[in-house]
Amino acid sequence: MSGRFRRRSNLKKALAAEAIDDLHNVLNESNEQNLSDASARLILRIGKKYGARMKNYSGIAICRSCNVAMVPGRNSTVRIRSKSIKYTCGICGRTKTMGPSFRGY
Ligand SMILES: [Zn+2]
Repeated sequence: MSGRFRRRSNLKKALAAEAIDDLHNVLNESNEQNLSDASARLILRIGKKYGARMKNYSGIAICRSCNVAMVPGRNSTVRIRSKSIKYTCGICGRTKTMGPSFRGY
């Protein structure tokens, strides 16, 4: 595990980042919570495994306690401040702040 396959893992990482983008599209467009949650869990799992993260923050946060997609108006509330967005998970109450100075994942 000492970087013998560095190039290969970089490729995997790029693919993982792409997969996360795709999953995020699913997450954003899905009207079904089950599908959103499944995508959210996959995003977290891929992110953890490959150290990849979303390139563009696209509006939906994932609760890291519940591993569910926090969909505003469905299971979470959103507060927008001048430079940051604060999400509150409706399930566990955990908050998450997103903004220029925060790293989402
Ligand atoms: Zn939660």
